[in-house]
Amino acid sequence: MSAADRVAVVGAGPVGLVLALLLARARIPVLVVEQGEALPTDLRASTFHPPTLEMLDGLGLAAGMLELGERTPTWQIRMHETGEKALFDLSVLSGDTRYPFRLQCEQANLARLALEALRREPCAEVRFSTRIVRATQDDDRAELETEAGERIAARWVVGCDGARSIVRRALDIAFDGTTYPETIVLVVTTTDFRESFPDWSGVNYAWTRDGNFATLRQRPGRRVSYYPQDVSDMDAVLSGANIEAFLQSIAPRPAPYAVDRVAPYRVHQRVAATYRVGRMLLAGDAAHLNSPTGGMGLNSGVHDAFNLAGKLARVWAGADAALLDAYVAERRPVAIEHVVQQSDRNRSRMKERDPERRRAILADLQATAADPARCRAFLLRSSMIEGLSRPAA
Ligand SMILES: Cc1cc2nc3c(=O)[nH]c(=O)nc-3n(C[C@H](O)[C@H](O)[C@H](O)COP(=O)(O)OP(=O)(O)OC[C@H]3O[C@@H](n4cnc5c(N)ncnc54)[C@H](O)[C@@H]3O)c2cc1C
Repeated sequence: MSAADRVAVVGAGPVGLVLALLLARARIPVLVVEQGEALPTDLRASTFHPPTLEMLDGLGLAAGMLELGERTPTWQIRMHETGEKALFDLSVLSGDTRYPFRLQCEQANLARLALEALRREPCAEVRFSTRIVRATQDDDRAELETEAGERIAARWVVGCDGARSIVRRALDIAFDGTTYPETIVLVVTTTDFRESFPDWSGVNYAWTRDGNFATLRQRPGRRVSYYPQDVSDMDAVLSGANIEAFLQSIAPRPAPYAVDRVAPYRVHQRVAATYRVGRMLLAGDAAHLNSPTGGMGLNSGVHDAFNLAGKLARVWAGADAALLDAYVAERRPVAIEHVVQQSDRNRSRMKERDPERRRAILADLQATAADPARCRAFLLRSSMIEGLSRPAA
């Protein structure tokens, strides 16, 4: 077997590593190339939904995630000032999933666990400090070129290289959509809010008089996300004094907050025009981006990886490569109709500022939560179970 007889995965983010692990377990030689010197430790994803946990369980990764994360059996949408809320209890999904809860666990944990497992696979290799600058292909093989000028040949290349994917750009695939106007600021504080708000769930989406924020319990403490109105001076926005003032504004306390990390993000909603050109494919953020409200982006990237790995394994074993078009036909509509649209609805709901409209939304959510059939349908959608049962296009 030549060195080119492998799958090359660009990007050691969580999606690339999960995909590589699936391929290695199917005994397909796989090389992961990552531009960073080590795994990224940025904050971003922390919510894992039930079907993703089931998939990760099949890879032997769920137990480690459950150990490191916080199980969140309920989540809520609330009026911060009055405490009125709609409370969603995922136990109504106990007939639909083995994991009727959200897991709050930072995405870096998934990447680390997947990398550890990958290192035990004899047919897998991971190279850090390897930035891909060019990707080309012909009928027989695909080729990547690194910044150092090295050429890496492979039978298949999968771009799991995130929002600015070099693979997507090399293939000249359109990535249409929009960039949301707001900047989201993530704050990790080891101070919990239990004393101030004993009725908060593990995950809360809250309207304030003139804005909105979310809090997610993780280990230890909480992650708080909010949208500063004036972001013209980001240094000022991210200063300790400003972060403290924001936290005090939602939960006043005599002692200052212990803040571990702060990070700003711009967010987009975009879907690649296709996920495949010849021997090159896209998965995860390289293929689709969405509002983080509801925590769906990484989950859907992991779902891409499972779908694609199954098909690549069959093609590797001799099936017609046209099977890979089914990956695009199955996963791209889910990104458009379920992930992007649902997360955009989640975002719009929380962006609502009109008090009457908010009241009507809350009343409708409370009625949904109180009606077991409606509640189950709502949670099947928001927990990403419905999208996976969508018939293929
Ligand atoms: C504020 C925020 C909160 C979020 N919360 C959630 C959540 O709770 N739940 C959820 O499901 N999703 C969430 N997301 C989305 C989630 O973070 C992403 O969907 C996820 O990180 C995508 O993983 P990935 O592996 O596809 O891409 P990435 O994590 O972006 O990884 C891409 C990797 O490719 C590497 N790379 C890039 N270019 C090259 C190159 N040229 N050569 C070599 N390597 C390269 C990068 O260094 C990186 O390691 C959130 C996003 C944001 C912004």
